Amino acid sequence: MATKWVYTFEEGNAGMKNLLGGKGANLSEMTSIGLPVPPGFIITTEACLAYLAEGEQFPEGLWEQTVENMKKLGEKMGRQFGDSNDPLLMSVRSGARISMPGMMDTILNLGLNDQAVEALAERSGDPRFAWDAYRRLIQMFGGVVMNVRGERFEELITRIRNEQGVKTDPEVSAEGWKQVVGWFKNVVREETGQEFPQDAWEQLRLAVEAVFKSWNGKRAIDYRNATGIPHDLGTAVNVQTMVFGNVGWDSGSGVAFTRNPSTGEDDFFGEYLFNAQGEDVVSGARTPIEVHHLKEDLPEAWDTLQEIAETLEKHYREMQDIEFTIENKKLWMLQTRSGKRTAAAAVKIAVDMVNEGLISKEEAVERIEPGQIDQLLHPHFDIEAMEAANVLAKGLNASPGAAVGRVYFTADTAEEMAKAGQSVILVRPETTPDDVHGMLAARGILTQHGGATSHAAVVARQLGKPCVAGCEDIHIDMNRLQFMVDGTVVKEGDVISLDGASGRVYLGELPTVAPTFDEQPDLQQILEWADEIRRLGVWANADDPEQATRARNYGATGIGLCRTEHMFMGERTEKFQRGILAKQAGNEEEAQRVLDEELLPLQREDFYGIFKAMDGLPVIIRLLDPPLHEFLPPREELIAEVAAARARGEDVSEAEKLLSTVEDMAEFNPMLGLRGCRLGIMMPELNTMQVRAIFEAACDAALEGVDVHPEVMIPLTSHINELKEIQPLLESVAQQVMAEKNIEIKYKFGTMIEIPRAALTAGEIASMAEFFSFGTNDLTQMAFGISRDDAERKFLLSYVEKGILPVNPFQTIDPIGVGRLMEVAVQEGRAVRSDLEIGICGEHGGDPASIEFCHQLGLNYVSCSPYRVPVARLAAAHAALNEKGMPERPD
Ligand code: PEP
Ligand code: MG
Repeated sequence: MATKWVYTFEEGNAGMKNLLGGKGANLSEMTSIGLPVPPGFIITTEACLAYLAEGEQFPEGLWEQTVENMKKLGEKMGRQFGDSNDPLLMSVRSGARISMPGMMDTILNLGLNDQAVEALAERSGDPRFAWDAYRRLIQMFGGVVMNVRGERFEELITRIRNEQGVKTDPEVSAEGWKQVVGWFKNVVREETGQEFPQDAWEQLRLAVEAVFKSWNGKRAIDYRNATGIPHDLGTAVNVQTMVFGNVGWDSGSGVAFTRNPSTGEDDFFGEYLFNAQGEDVVSGARTPIEVHHLKEDLPEAWDTLQEIAETLEKHYREMQDIEFTIENKKLWMLQTRSGKRTAAAAVKIAVDMVNEGLISKEEAVERIEPGQIDQLLHPHFDIEAMEAANVLAKGLNASPGAAVGRVYFTADTAEEMAKAGQSVILVRPETTPDDVHGMLAARGILTQHGGATSHAAVVARQLGKPCVAGCEDIHIDMNRLQFMVDGTVVKEGDVISLDGASGRVYLGELPTVAPTFDEQPDLQQILEWADEIRRLGVWANADDPEQATRARNYGATGIGLCRTEHMFMGERTEKFQRGILAKQAGNEEEAQRVLDEELLPLQREDFYGIFKAMDGLPVIIRLLDPPLHEFLPPREELIAEVAAARARGEDVSEAEKLLSTVEDMAEFNPMLGLRGCRLGIMMPELNTMQVRAIFEAACDAALEGVDVHPEVMIPLTSHINELKEIQPLLESVAQQVMAEKNIEIKYKFGTMIEIPRAALTAGEIASMAEFFSFGTNDLTQMAFGISRDDAERKFLLSYVEKGILPVNPFQTIDPIGVGRLMEVAVQEGRAVRSDLEIGICGEHGGDPASIEFCHQLGLNYVSCSPYRVPVARLAAAHAALNEKGMPERPD
């Protein structure tokens, strides 16, 4: 049987997104539930792929099926496409499986030509409408199919408005548009050497081809690269009978969300333009009015719209983003899809929908992307600083968040400057799909025109970037690359602050503050549901009581890594240095005194605070890990200092001693050198001091009634004999302290698995270690043989760009290499010790993809920075849900 390339709206449904694209599948679904959808049909994504694969040729049967469906549609509508005396007019729109705001290829009013426009004028009794529709066709067709630059048309529209002395398009007369049609045809001829095609069928064929080709256009490819959408899906083409929003003041076009996409409130939200076609709303060319005005202006249409919104939410069980047109008071639905929303809105809507009985808790959890949670904990401007600052301008609060950066006026410069390391704010009159690369590079986006559903606003929300849109206070001068507000001139490169939540713009840099978790009950609710679902524990890496408290507040149920070296930083470094110098100078007594009298009390105090903060929960404390030279000044610096002091005639003996110590300790590969347990073995007094401090603190806290669970972690083990050498000594210190304090507490000794050899001999290692913690930073470094400190600066990012590596392995675990080592370690370790506690404490512990991998490996927990704990809780729940196989999310 010949391939079926074309489906009518009656033949499709929402489950057919792969074949019909998102828009087409949802138009079909709306048709089937009886909503008012202008009839039409869909050319499949497979047809697009076949067209591209066959060297831009229609596959066999496609054109015939298109013509046949068009004729059937004509019979249904009572007028035929291509009949210049009574034309059936069509729209052609792209619609990929996953919505891509970077690819808005739409052509309206297809089927008009020099003769049909007269017929339309007569039939509608409104020549202004007919000529406006025709000029739109030439404009859109010229742009999308014939690649005529948009400015060529825009200039002429401005010209006719000026000539007629009017401000907006609907005020331009029929004669005016007729004149513009003539100009537009000339522009097409001048720019392309071809005539605008008069044959409706040729228009249709070329339009369909243009949509197919747009799949491989630069902006579509850029968008897919940036958002991770696969390149082999293809786009469907929706061919639909026209309804007209531009036939007078009881007509119009709107876009709306069934709930507020910024805040999540259950309030219909959107915009509307009288006497306009849909493109006018989305492009931001005219600033639309708030949709609630319809209630008074066109009450019947408003009521229908509310009913439809409710039907759609109940049907899809999801917030919808809809497009509609009103033609002479009658409402038509042109699109529905799951609405993009901010992180805050996503969380609120999910919680509300559970409470409304629309979705389950699992679905609510599944609907929040772990990455979105990050946005909620991101900084916003300090309220007091905002109040004290002068507001430079105010626009629409299109996408929340705080952004500070330098102003750039084109997407290309914004991208270039961001690449050069600047924080950038992209400022545009309005954005189009061609600006998406600049928006991706920018910290925030400011537009002069356009509403809350303009391109800038929609894309910014999706990207999670702060955006102020429709900021009519500013006047952009693209020639001088500056904008003016009253008397103030802001030039390219000047710094501004944007508050996407309020729509305010400030000159200069405003300070930001991190939002508090406590103020976000909906987020906490989602995370509590996530906790019920997940199997993986979420612990935190915390080095002091304050971090531990924050981690616990964010929901961590243990400390997976306390890096004790961080306790020797800052003003304590000097004490630590004195100890090292004494040791190197052979002054054992002084070295021991520094350890016992100066460092031990400090460590004990830190540990005590952490145990108290984590009352009832495990705390893994890692013994000193980095090479000692990290605590000493750099060699080059010392050489320069000694030389300078000598030149000034000063005594340099102390400085020289320090220099010679530093030189003694220098290693070619310090990360592979005297660090981790090697250091503990060579200088056991360091480790014994630490273990004493841990147990003194734990016993003191326990004596006060704190439920302590200390776990001592030995770093960088590569051979079982290392543990055999050091662990008994350390355990004897623990026993000794407990005897001194006259209290028994439960504890564990374990090790990090961060050297491939340790992973491969995990069975042996588990004979001593009661727990494993994967140090995937080092494990990745050593498995790849790539220096974690240098690689990203030198070549790693190029590797990712070139596709040599699929992702940066220091961010997301390499599952088949590093992951394989982990798998071996888990299996062999648990074979020897069935209750072996295994977690991960490298940076990967906060990365959702890596968390999923850890879930699959059956680890007990992931440990990450306190700020990432909420993300990890959610990601761990997603991993559990993915395993269960959740039903596909409706969108
Ligand atoms: C690791 O190597 O993954 C780890 C957590 O230790 P560090 O980053 O301190 O070397
Ligand atoms: Mg490490």
